[in-house]
Amino acid sequence: MTAATFPHGTVLGYPRIGRRRELKRAVEAYWSGAIDAAELAARAADLRTATRERLAELGLGRTDSSIPETFSHYDQVLDAIVATGAVPPRFEHLRGAGGVDLDGAFTLARGDGVDAPLEMTKWFDTNYHYLVPEIAPETVFAARSDDLVAHVVEARAAGFVTRPVLVGPVSLLLLAKPADGAPAGFRPIDRLGDLLPVYARLLADLRAAGAEWVQLDEPALVSESLPDSRERALVAAAEAYDVLGAADDRPAIFVAAPYGELGDALAVLAASPAEAIGLDLVRGAVPDLLDPATEEALAAKTLVAGVVDGRNIWRGDLAAAFDRADALRSRSASVAVSTSTSLQHVPHDVDDETALDARLRSWLAFADQKVGQVAVLARGLAEGRAAISDELDAASRALADRAAAPGVREPAVRARVAALSSADFARVGYGARVEAQASLGLPELPTTTIGSFPQTSEIRRARAHLAGGELDDDGYRAAMRGEIERVIRLQEELGLDVLVHGEPERNDMVQYFAELLDGFAVTEHGWVQSYGSRCTRPSILWGDVSRPAPMTVEWSAYAQSLTEKPVKGMLTGPVTILAWSFVRDDQPLGDTATQVALALRDEVADLERAGIRVIQVDEPALRELLPLRRADQPAYLDWSVGAFRLATGGAAPDTQVHTHLCYSEFGAIIDAIRGLDADVTSIEAARSRMEVVDDLASSGFDHGIGPGVYDIHSPRVPSAEEVRSLLERAVAEIPATRLWVNPDCGLKTRGYDETVASLRHVVEAAREVRAAL
Ligand code: GLN
Ligand code: ZN
Repeated sequence: MTAATFPHGTVLGYPRIGRRRELKRAVEAYWSGAIDAAELAARAADLRTATRERLAELGLGRTDSSIPETFSHYDQVLDAIVATGAVPPRFEHLRGAGGVDLDGAFTLARGDGVDAPLEMTKWFDTNYHYLVPEIAPETVFAARSDDLVAHVVEARAAGFVTRPVLVGPVSLLLLAKPADGAPAGFRPIDRLGDLLPVYARLLADLRAAGAEWVQLDEPALVSESLPDSRERALVAAAEAYDVLGAADDRPAIFVAAPYGELGDALAVLAASPAEAIGLDLVRGAVPDLLDPATEEALAAKTLVAGVVDGRNIWRGDLAAAFDRADALRSRSASVAVSTSTSLQHVPHDVDDETALDARLRSWLAFADQKVGQVAVLARGLAEGRAAISDELDAASRALADRAAAPGVREPAVRARVAALSSADFARVGYGARVEAQASLGLPELPTTTIGSFPQTSEIRRARAHLAGGELDDDGYRAAMRGEIERVIRLQEELGLDVLVHGEPERNDMVQYFAELLDGFAVTEHGWVQSYGSRCTRPSILWGDVSRPAPMTVEWSAYAQSLTEKPVKGMLTGPVTILAWSFVRDDQPLGDTATQVALALRDEVADLERAGIRVIQVDEPALRELLPLRRADQPAYLDWSVGAFRLATGGAAPDTQVHTHLCYSEFGAIIDAIRGLDADVTSIEAARSRMEVVDDLASSGFDHGIGPGVYDIHSPRVPSAEEVRSLLERAVAEIPATRLWVNPDCGLKTRGYDETVASLRHVVEAAREVRAAL
């Protein structure tokens, strides 16, 4: 093993989708057959080359292992599954002589039409989704290092010495679930002893290829919300790094622990042979002094101070970041600067946003600017604070400019928040509301949809033409009205009870509102990877939020003018608007949520005035923002539930408030859902065959509930019998007066053929079950 020194500055990872989403285009072209494997490989290599060159240009060293190799065709956890042969038994046939190849990996990610793909879930508390490994007692792990090695070799040929990055063994197993059919009590982490030799092999191959350092990401060591106990995780970490450290044909090991505080895992890593430890000093504090033996061990390591925030897009307080890194120098003579997490969560480059207000732009840092900050801070550590005082001052000036800029703190918004009282958060009792809402004249088991209808290519074209100037406002409005009318007529023909306008005018359920609210800005190229080739372009919530004008009333009122049936107004809730935007970091999230809630409250009032009697406020992200640390959860639930109640609390008793949540696992937040006090809550349920209905019934939930009766995530059309059997399950548990019949989620990603056929079966099944009541 070499005694390589760790570089002074680095980043834990860099966006891999490409500045203009080149990777997305390439893999989607490959999936559709438009390009072949050789062309995909060539484009991927170009992207890696461009990334290394860019990182060097921004100030990372070419040959000191500071440039990480974090390219991935799809997902870093999938890459680790492939590299270790951790293939689920149900996909064993994908394993060839050398393991799973790229096509096999895409099959794991996307399914093959027969076998469902690996499950996808949120990567810690981010908006990124990874593929969940499935591990069995008999899984045969086997090293496949060719991609990892190829990237190191490719870099070397271009004159770089880069640092390969891999999800670490402890996190890979702690994030895994037991494969179907595994005996009760089996835990993937029990297989650690069998997995470690495979990691040792990968490290040896990387060393042979010329890698001097390897980065093993162990974010599972910061989490308190994984199914295995904390003790088990710590024992696993000790074992893993003892074994990997013991080999002598390995690169130096850098264990990174992003997304939170290592806590008691820090002492474990200190006692291990790992040469460098990465601390997230944005989410976590500089650790308190530990016992003398641990401090002595830490002093012998490189401490990599994650002080540049990898999760947000603010330029931030660079001087404070420097001080935090500097504070670690009393613990070790070797301190390096890094980002707190991979930069995969932020867009590429602020300089691409030429349409953004220049003042706002000066407050921002995307990935490239953050790399620049790392380079500055690293120079400061090497040459002293004075050497970078110009850069620190410039950042402080930008911060002061931001604090004082018009729009950041709006007196009118602040005054309105200050005047709120508890009465603003509550409606009259549910019983009185049910009575008042009887005037809606709905049948038992009312049928509805979640809001969006298919976004056809004509709709998308109209939006593009509006943006490009080929269509003027009136032309666009006419196109959307035409679409709304079609959707209303279709729903009447299908016989649905509560109609929707179909959301054709919305490019995205958050961005649509961000574009209409003060306090937000939208980017042109600010894409971040959500999963695989899917990207989102979060808006930037930079100032106090207010609503200059009604946002949805025109469309909803038009839809209502076309029919006697109630049309549901459709809003995105405050928590979801925050969760899917880049949010200001200069005040608590709860304060920002309150402002957004007030804007929505005004919209609710205007919808009511326009004759809308049913209003849905979607909160699909309520679960996702739940903090990883249990201690932080009650405060979160308090403000998030409060924001929803504030948004809807002004609704009249005879206005029926709905909410929609996109998942069925809400054990942890069932009280919060009850706390929303919506008249009707629709949730996902079809994929779990309505299991959630039992949970709800046993929890005493006593408001209206619409468990989804068909899965909109695939084009499959459920038969009427299938829907009926789900409904029969639900009526056995929930009184028919409170049970709603609806799909799992919105229909925007579906085609019309399957949508019409499926909704026909839904209405038919509801009628049959109703008749048999
Ligand atoms: N009303 C939205 C729709 O139907 C809800 C989407 C969501 O929950 N993600 O598209
Ligand atoms: Zn949904």
